[in-house]
Amino acid sequence: MRKKTQLIHGGIFGDETTGAVSTPIYQVSTYKQDSVGQHRGFEYSRTGNPTRHALEELIKDVEGGKRGFAFGSGMAAITSVMMLFNSGDHVVLTDDVYGGTYRVFTNVLNRIGIEATFVDSSQLENIESAIQDNTKAVFIETPTNPLLKVTDLQEAANMAKKHNLLTIVDNTFTTPYFQNPLSFGADIVLHSATKYLGGHSDVVAGLVVVNDEQLGEDLHFIQNSTGAILGPQDSWLLMRGIKTLGIRMEEHEQNTKAIVDFLEKHPVVENIYYPGLPSHLGHETMKKQSSGFGAMISFDVGSGEKADEVLAKLRYFTLAESLGAVESLISVPAKMTHASIPHDRRLELGITDGLIRISVGLEDIDDLLEDLDQALS
Ligand SMILES: *Cc1c(COP(=O)(O)O)cnc(C)c1O
Repeated sequence: MRKKTQLIHGGIFGDETTGAVSTPIYQVSTYKQDSVGQHRGFEYSRTGNPTRHALEELIKDVEGGKRGFAFGSGMAAITSVMMLFNSGDHVVLTDDVYGGTYRVFTNVLNRIGIEATFVDSSQLENIESAIQDNTKAVFIETPTNPLLKVTDLQEAANMAKKHNLLTIVDNTFTTPYFQNPLSFGADIVLHSATKYLGGHSDVVAGLVVVNDEQLGEDLHFIQNSTGAILGPQDSWLLMRGIKTLGIRMEEHEQNTKAIVDFLEKHPVVENIYYPGLPSHLGHETMKKQSSGFGAMISFDVGSGEKADEVLAKLRYFTLAESLGAVESLISVPAKMTHASIPHDRRLELGITDGLIRISVGLEDIDDLLEDLDQALS
């Protein structure tokens, strides 16, 4: 089955009982047992719910793994995965991971003894030199936010295996339509499904797929024990979003290419970060491991004042955090998502005051280009 077909026919297609082609929303907490201990696969909705189960089967198929899990947010997914580890364990992470991931590792998981080291994982040797005796996993985000740095998934997974570490990949930016980390040897892939998988700025959710039955058993035990599950309404909304992921990603990327072409020729724009550009450092690696380059771009307009000016003039780019929806969203990382990082450290990382990040949406490309043109001039 090819990708676009799998997004529609993967998992559990429709409803056996009624023939409904869309999985119904089982808005239910408990299930009648035929006799004591005899149930039909569902007993209580924290443990399992038919709508959530259909979503979990779908994402399992789409990522090509053994078990899928749906959580109440991307952060709930990440935190639940970290509950696989014990106090005293250590994890090596990409240094510019999503801000919420950085926060949970440095302000919450550290309190229960899970240690973290952050390195530029686009250089493999940085990961290897951060490995300690108590290291249990490598946590990679590729490409990253906002500078779109790319990590080689195959090389990272091979290296992790050599040291008996689990490889965990946050695949939110590229989506399983373009990139399947498990196929390169990763053990766990996770998503903020709030972004492209949902795709319409109307649901907060997290998904995890594991490539091993035992890991699946362990994670189900954690999901059931700690309870950070996704509800049936949101599970249904997410399945609805995933059906169109393929055509959305194709169109997101087409629009992005046109915007990058425009920005490249614009005199005000200094640096453009997009892995689809042959000049981008991660271009060749991304080409090897992903069938698309996605729809996130960052570019520099020289100063914070200029960035403010541009943002104030734009009409179709909504000033907001988040990404991956039909609406084009724009942000200034230095003042928004990355404001908590000290100024000097930000500059070291390349997050200048004039850096603008766009999540390119699905509006008519001519409107987007005209809008950027008037705002930049
Ligand atoms: C948004 C995001 C998260 C967190 O997901 P929520 O659904 O907001 O909890 C994690 N990783 C990445 C890359 C994200 O963009």
